[in-house]
Parts: sequence; C-alpha cells; structure tokens
Amino acid sequence: MSIPTLDELHARGAAQQPTWPEPAGVERAVGKLRSMPPLVFAGECDELKTSLGDVAAGRAFLLQGGDCAETFDTLTAENVRAKLQVLLQMAVVLTYGASVPVVKLGRIAGQYAKPRSNDTETRGEVTLPAYRGDAVNGYQFTPESRVPDPDRLVQVYHASAVTLNLSRAFLQGGYADLRQMHAWNTDFVRTSPIGARYEKMAAEIDRALDFMSAIGAESDELHRVAFHSSHEALILEYEHALTRIDSRTDRPYDVSGHFLWVGERTRQLDGAHVELLSRVENPIGVKLGPTTTTDEAVAYAEKLNPHNEPGRLTFITRMGAGKIRDVLPTLVEKVTAAGITVGWVTDPMHGNGFETLTGYKTRRFDDVLDEVSGFFEVHHSLGTWPGGMHVELTGGDVTECIGGGEALDEAGLRHRYESVCDPRLNRTQSLELAFLVAEMLRASRG
Ligand code: PEP
Ligand code: MN
Repeated sequence: MSIPTLDELHARGAAQQPTWPEPAGVERAVGKLRSMPPLVFAGECDELKTSLGDVAAGRAFLLQGGDCAETFDTLTAENVRAKLQVLLQMAVVLTYGASVPVVKLGRIAGQYAKPRSNDTETRGEVTLPAYRGDAVNGYQFTPESRVPDPDRLVQVYHASAVTLNLSRAFLQGGYADLRQMHAWNTDFVRTSPIGARYEKMAAEIDRALDFMSAIGAESDELHRVAFHSSHEALILEYEHALTRIDSRTDRPYDVSGHFLWVGERTRQLDGAHVELLSRVENPIGVKLGPTTTTDEAVAYAEKLNPHNEPGRLTFITRMGAGKIRDVLPTLVEKVTAAGITVGWVTDPMHGNGFETLTGYKTRRFDDVLDEVSGFFEVHHSLGTWPGGMHVELTGGDVTECIGGGEALDEAGLRHRYESVCDPRLNRTQSLELAFLVAEMLRASRG
C-alpha cells in the first residue's frame, strides 16, 4: 500500500491543524523528522496487534492510560516511573482480580498534541490562539508562547525517544517484576484504605509466587511485561514524517508510536486523519462519541480494516455516563451483526467533563465509574466482550477529578491541579477504579 503525500492529505481537509506561521520552518522540521530513526519498530506494532486481537476475541482486557497531554516540562524520570507504576499496579489488580490477561498500553511517549473546541482562548480582555499541546505551542498565556512553532515537532520526537528509552529500561530491567509489587506501594498510598487493599493482594500474589517457585514453575512472564505506546495521531506533519515503509514487509507503518488513534473531532470519514491511518499497518483506534451512527461505525471498519483483521481496529467509545446505556447497545449490536471484528473499549473520561464555578475543568469519579458500569451492562446484555478501558491518569497525587475514596471535593481541586488540558485520575483514584473494574470484569467472565 502506498503512502499519500502530505499535500494529498491536506487536500482532503484536516481538522484541528495549527496555522503554522511560515512554510519554511515546517519544511525544515518535517525534513529533520524524516531523517530520524523510527521510535518504535514495526514488529512491535505487530505484536501489539496480536494482543489486541485477543481483546477483540474476548480473551484479554486492554488497559490504556496516561496523561491527557504530556508536556516537555513534566518529562522527568520520576514522572515516567510513577505513571508506569500506577499502570502496572492497575494491571495487576485487574489480572489477579478477574483472572484475565491484561494488555498494557501507555498514553505516553507521543501524546503531545491536543484538539480544541475553540481556536482561541480569552482571559479578561486578551484573546490568543488556544494551546494545542506542546507539539504546537506553549501553554503560557502570552502572544509569543501561543504562536505555533514547528521546531516543537522535533522536540516531541526527542521527548518521546527519551520516554520510550526510560520505559523500556524500567520494564525490561526488573522494575516490572511481580516480586516488586510491595515496593511499588511504599509511599502515601500504603496508608490509604485502597493502599491497604492493594497490599493484601500483593501478599497473596507473593504467596502464589513462592508456591510456583517451590514447584519449579518459574516463568519469564513474572519478571517483565510487554508494554506499548500510543497517542492521538493529530498533527499530520509529524505523523506523516514518521510513516515509513518497513523493510521486512514492504508495508507502511507510522513509527511514532505502536498504537495510534483518531479523535472524536478528527474522525471525518473522508478526512485526512482517517485516510492516513487507513494506509498504515499499526493497530489503530477510533474514538466514538454519542452522535456516532451505526452506518459511520460500519464505514470506519470497511475503510480502516477491510480485511477484518483481528486487533487492527479498536473502537474507543466516550459517550458520557448519562448516554452510554441509550446509544451503545444499537452500535454494538449492528456492528456485531455486520460480522465486524473490533475491540470495544470504554473511555469514561471524555464524555463526563464539566467546569466548576471556580473555573476548573473536572470530572466526577462517580460519573467515570457509572460510564464503565454502563459499558459492562451493555456488553453483558448483548453477550459481547467489554474489551477494555482507556483512562487519563497520572502517577502523582494531583487533585483534578472530584470524588473517590478520599472524597476530593470542588474546593480541594486547587491544591494540586497540574493538568494543562483534561483532569486526570490521581494514583489512589486510579487504583480504586482498577479494583472496582476488576469486580465488574470478574462478574462478566462469570
Ligand atoms: C483525548 O483523548 O484527550 C481526547 C481529546 O479525546 P476525544 O477525541 O475522545 O475527545
Ligand atoms: Mn483528554
């Protein structure tokens, strides 16, 4: 399959693109990116696709999570480690709680570009271009910082390379060993109710590991984990420059990340984003909001996965807690009836945002949980597989979402509100969600 040119893609119309100030800078950045080595390897994308095939077939559960928007300033070893740690903890809780293999996918190492509802942002008397992620412009509210700067695309490449390098080192170098489960829980979480619950589970797993080692049943799987990266494929220049023909297979892969998705705002069937992802071999996702029609869903499958390859296509639904029980059933029913192989994943974050009177973008933990419950209910009643969960989270103790066991309230948001875009679950809220979802998953296996 051939790769369309960047001009051909733009000619289709591409939503949510920055207005770059001058073409020479863009050409320079794209040229630089084209000369850089791949960030991920085609064979790794294929491995993930196989695992996602298990998700689509009802044999595994996908846990996809990370920041709404990564930033250059918050790229530290500590932040990366903490994010991986909370994902690993959630994955263990889900695996152990529900006895289901969990496919672990970071929203990490490339999640630097954001679609926005408005092109501009107004504060007081001043109106400036909206922040579109560190891939495009700066968060700081000044005219200079908000000008799109194509050199940032090259910075995204380097930041992603650093993040991937660290992640690979942590996860292959013994950090992900199940024997480390207690060590992952040494700080503030241990003293919270959810930390205690986690500690108890870790002790049970330890005993099981002792047993296995006593009978000589050691396995590599206990000491390392498979982990892959993902982000929204938003900025055409970046994704196109990193789309390459794989020398083994002669086929195109977008080597900016293992898994790429098209967002709710850029999923136009004839648009540039769907077109680009239709041409690459990576496993891909499409976010589906509440207005998605069944005809559209079927059309995505025809365009993006014409051979119905298992693991190629994941539908990430983000309907909102109040709507999921009304809109999801027909969608799943019709797509299933059409014989389409797809993984169904819930994103319980993006349909449940609201702004507080004090001006914070937030989400209620209860709404998040309610959307996940709705997702499980719908799949249960249709006899289809609730394939996974896509969440915005961070390893830190931030105060961005309301509720959860620590009952964070609106007034508490100001303490540590650090997201530059959407509110993330903090570490205790994430773990709590994992325990609750493990129960749902166990019941649905039952
Ligand atoms: C996101 O995942 O951060 C996002 C913008 O999602 P959506 O495209 O579903 O709105
Ligand atoms: Mn988001």
